[in-house]
Amino acid sequence: EYFVCEMIPVSHAGVNHALVILRNITNEKQLEAIRREFVSDVSHELRTPLTSIHGYAETLLDHDLSDKETVRHFLNIIEKESARMTRLINDLLDVEKLESGDAKFAITDVELTEVGRYVLKIIGPLADELGVKVMDDIEEGIFVEGDFDRLVQLTLNLVDNAVKYTAVKEHGPKEVWLRIYALANFAFIEVEDTGVGIPEEAQKRIFERFFRVDKARSRKMGGTGLGLAIVKFIADKLNGKVELESEYGSGTTFRVKIPLKKVIK
Ligand code: ADP
Repeated sequence: EYFVCEMIPVSHAGVNHALVILRNITNEKQLEAIRREFVSDVSHELRTPLTSIHGYAETLLDHDLSDKETVRHFLNIIEKESARMTRLINDLLDVEKLESGDAKFAITDVELTEVGRYVLKIIGPLADELGVKVMDDIEEGIFVEGDFDRLVQLTLNLVDNAVKYTAVKEHGPKEVWLRIYALANFAFIEVEDTGVGIPEEAQKRIFERFFRVDKARSRKMGGTGLGLAIVKFIADKLNGKVELESEYGSGTTFRVKIPLKKVIK
């Protein structure tokens, strides 16, 4: 714990006293430390793609530009890294908005079936490209109170991770399941994969900003390290919870539990 000690001389009835004030500043210190760590993390995260862009641009300048294939390869990396940087900045601004309470949620009755179908449409091309089969089991007529776009963002972040961290696994089936169902008074969005899994000691830290099991792998897959932090924020905001089950080397299931509004069959 941190304290600040102040001493104020006071005079009472002709006698001099000293008033000693002890102020506990542990909270301020902690906030300051968190803020400093965040600034340092962000700087590092932004510097990594920049270094790579700079390096490849420099190499290109020194290179024989008639070698079309190599030129194209380097330009590809530059394009990918700058796209990742843009994503990183957008995600950062979004995290800041969610955290400060500035993010406005347009709350309506949202049918999760629609959310699920929309996400499947978006993820299709990437899943095909990476050779991962996405299957779904989506119940009709399940409604929650939420913001459609935010629910899409939450679901897409989970499915996107599931596809990417399944694609990088060398052996075994490459399958992802998206399930949406209602149970008791809750709606569930469940994403199961047959991917690399998350080691037990990493599981409790996985929702922290910039926490990754394997930085190089995350970067290679275009990750920003902010996806799960955003998932957690959105779930919290909708009075939901995120559960996680994972076995290192064989797969992961993320389950988001949100209060059910109604079921229309
Ligand atoms: P990233 O952009 O790195 O994917 P996320 O916040 O989405 O950031 O995820 C944080 C980390 O959690 C990832 O880097 C990865 O190590 C791990 N992770 C997330 N989803 C999965 C998954 N389905 N399978 C295995 N690891 C995962």
